[in-house]
Amino acid sequence: MRRTRIVATLGPASDSDAVILDLAAAGVDVFRLSMAHGDIPSGIERLRRVRALAPDLAIMVDIPGPKIRAGSFGTAPVQLETGDSVELVEAMGESSTAARIAVERKDVLSLLRAGDKIHIGDGGVSLEVVAPGSTARAIVSAGGSVTGKPGLSLPTSILHDRLPTAEDRARLEALRGEAFEILAVSFVRSAFDIVSTRTVLSRDDVMIMAKIETAEGVTNLDEIIAVSDAIMVARGDLGVRMPIEEVPHLQKDIVRHGIRYARPVVVATQMLESMTHAQVPTRAEVTDVANAVLDGASAVMLSGETAIGDDPVGTVTTMDRIVRRAEESFDYATWGGSLGVQQIGAGTESTRITAAITGAAWRAAMEEKAVAIVACTRSGLTARAISRFRPPMPIVAITPSEATARQLHGSWGVQEIYLSPATDIDDLCDFAVTQMKLSGTAKPGDAVVVMAGSASGGASITDTVRMVMVS
Ligand code: PEP
Repeated sequence: MRRTRIVATLGPASDSDAVILDLAAAGVDVFRLSMAHGDIPSGIERLRRVRALAPDLAIMVDIPGPKIRAGSFGTAPVQLETGDSVELVEAMGESSTAARIAVERKDVLSLLRAGDKIHIGDGGVSLEVVAPGSTARAIVSAGGSVTGKPGLSLPTSILHDRLPTAEDRARLEALRGEAFEILAVSFVRSAFDIVSTRTVLSRDDVMIMAKIETAEGVTNLDEIIAVSDAIMVARGDLGVRMPIEEVPHLQKDIVRHGIRYARPVVVATQMLESMTHAQVPTRAEVTDVANAVLDGASAVMLSGETAIGDDPVGTVTTMDRIVRRAEESFDYATWGGSLGVQQIGAGTESTRITAAITGAAWRAAMEEKAVAIVACTRSGLTARAISRFRPPMPIVAITPSEATARQLHGSWGVQEIYLSPATDIDDLCDFAVTQMKLSGTAKPGDAVVVMAGSASGGASITDTVRMVMVS
């Protein structure tokens, strides 16, 4: 089985029930729904529909934060030529042209300074401001074509939004009663942004994922990881807000750092970009996806490829093949030993014990060449904590919670997930071994490592590791 997860962004090309079902069959583990486009009621309607169509998979809802968009350029590509002059106006709901771009945000254009750069979309097209003001003028410094409603990257120095923004607050309130597993938060700059978003959402069954896409997010990575449940390397915006040559190195650092602390890390954006319209990806893209796997990413993500691409299902199938092949070359032998730090959370007693027990379970499983490591887990933390070692044998999760089971579809290597109401550690071991014998994972004579909470330790803390010899 593939161990690295695939996240697919839904959009107009993948909105029909049939395509969503085909995407799930092709290997999508997590569906990403962006709330950046469309109104709240239609976003909620789509969320409910995807939940009904994919009851076992994880859903990630992505809130846009202070992302500023241009008014629509329409569906046909509009060419901006290098050297052309463009007028920028603050206007909501108006369309944009090559000569006049509607900026969907009030009171920002007069804060610009001559020489400021504005990047359009994921950075292919950029403008240089020549005359700031409530109606500003800019020169196209790097030309190219634009479609739809691309994001505009204005200098972060003029954006002072605290998260969640007023618009995101309204989205979070609407989402509070809905069934989804992961909330991706855009433009996170500090731990405060995550803590305040978590407070507004008020849900302890939803994982909060910090999208690292600003220079401040990179600087404050440690404090952000400490308060987040998962991380995304959002390379699109990161590549326009940081020197682009830093992106591969930041990706490696963020992946390793996040995994060390048992936070699933998603590598996102332009992974198979050319497949938006081509049937075969570029060699560079194939290498990029494989390298993300070798870097230790928990998941790789498709954005426009599945949202607006010509063949969303074919793109997922291609990604699945690339990932499976890369996993054959992953360095399972040295990854776990080189992780270093044992801490996985804010250093509470429960996370310290889980860190120590999962470290012991990983060493025992490696020494005894166990056929599986079983994590009995209520919140999913024990499974994520053993997953950070990237063990070569399957990780099996047993949980009483359907929400946790779905969330674990975003965690690397959790190959089998069983729902069980059992809490006694002997019953859990029996249940795990029986299920694994039925699925063919274990046979008599095999060793299985089981982690669980003991009744005397307070079953909510994973305080026990046991080596079970299958009879
Ligand atoms: C990114 O910038 O890489 C990203 C994933 O964010 P979004 O797609 O929301 O712009």
